[in-house]
Amino acid sequence: MKITNAWICRINKNNVEPIFGDLTFTDGKISSIEEKSFEPKNVFAENFNEKDIINAGGRVVTIPNINFHDHFYSRLAKGLTIKGETDNFHNILKNLWWKLDLILDEEMIKASSQMAALESIRNGVTYIFDHHSSPQSANGSLKIISDILSEAGLRGVLCFESTDRNGKEFTKQGLNENIDFLQNQTDENIKGLFGLHASFTVDDESLKTLSEFVNNNDLGIHVHLCEDKVDRDFSLKQFNKSPADRFIDFKMLNDKSILAHGIHLVENDFRLIEKAGSAIVYNPDSNLNNAVGLADFSHVPDSIPILAGTDGMNSNPARSLKQLFLISRHRGMSFDESFKFINKIYFDQINFVKKYFPDFTLLNTNDRADLIIWDYIPPTIFNSENFFGHYVYGILDRPVHSVIQNGKVLMKNFQITIDETCYNAKIVEQGKRLYEKFNSIS
Ligand SMILES: [Zn+2]
Repeated sequence: MKITNAWICRINKNNVEPIFGDLTFTDGKISSIEEKSFEPKNVFAENFNEKDIINAGGRVVTIPNINFHDHFYSRLAKGLTIKGETDNFHNILKNLWWKLDLILDEEMIKASSQMAALESIRNGVTYIFDHHSSPQSANGSLKIISDILSEAGLRGVLCFESTDRNGKEFTKQGLNENIDFLQNQTDENIKGLFGLHASFTVDDESLKTLSEFVNNNDLGIHVHLCEDKVDRDFSLKQFNKSPADRFIDFKMLNDKSILAHGIHLVENDFRLIEKAGSAIVYNPDSNLNNAVGLADFSHVPDSIPILAGTDGMNSNPARSLKQLFLISRHRGMSFDESFKFINKIYFDQINFVKKYFPDFTLLNTNDRADLIIWDYIPPTIFNSENFFGHYVYGILDRPVHSVIQNGKVLMKNFQITIDETCYNAKIVEQGKRLYEKFNSIS
């Protein structure tokens, strides 16, 4: 299979180096990249419909997008009537998400994951770090998500959200689902992390139990950290230390850990996170929607990996990256600083995902054939010097045209290759069930 007439954005050390040419892949790997000159009369005239050839027609090919913080279980929550207040973060959780996750059953989890998988492919996302919650259907829930990811040809790193908020019996079930999945899953494309909701819903007794498993198995954790001020205030009041301090005390932070949000962190927290080597994942759409505040990037030490996620709001981390660029400008960072920030995130993503998938592609010969074609044709010169100019103002704003994962075509010319009709029927059926069940509870 071959992609012709593409701007192939290979990674070489800490540089993105676009070259124009054709890329061939065989048995899941990139077998050759042939550079050629850009001749408009050839690039735009060649036939688009040849079998085994995708004519990129001058479009841009990059590594796939990665969503470092998603909640697949959120996807059916559209158009719901929310009873009760939603005037602050805690009330949004109480009256929407903590009601919704309690009513999820296996069929709904499956349909929600199918919807998220389709959306992810459309957005060129083929690596997903998911944070799952379905307290009344904990047992086997990660396997349901894992099966959908496999069926869709995607890679994932999964976990179940442990929390005390529904009582200790449910904390135990959450722990067991993490353990069961981490010990029994065998698919090499699906990995595991240990999931916790957030510091403010896990007491010291539970943290002690959970941390034993994390430490004994040298696991990374995936947790919400200081998303809203309430997390920090509660922790200081209840435990006399910050949430980051608590996780450090229980030795739960390491360089495989994901800290989602990190909006209300202070200098001392950053020092602890920096020492532990954990990554912070920003989810600007969600933060704006929940009005929890926005991170001030200028205080984050450069050595802390910064990643982008969506927090279940959508499947579009490219949008998150664009938002992060705009917020950094709004915060007063210069164009130079803002471009450096996006450049840093680009490479932090690659370095972090390699901890779970060491074979993550850099789009060089012999690398895995995981790549996406963006519906973007650079109108001006395109090279390693100005890649991020095209990335921020062109690429990130355009839809994804085609998606290849492990040499398999998941989407070609905007057409998804798995049976979308069958998925959509399930999604609508289960969405209706969820809507009615959600309406029936007070
Ligand atoms: Zn989240």
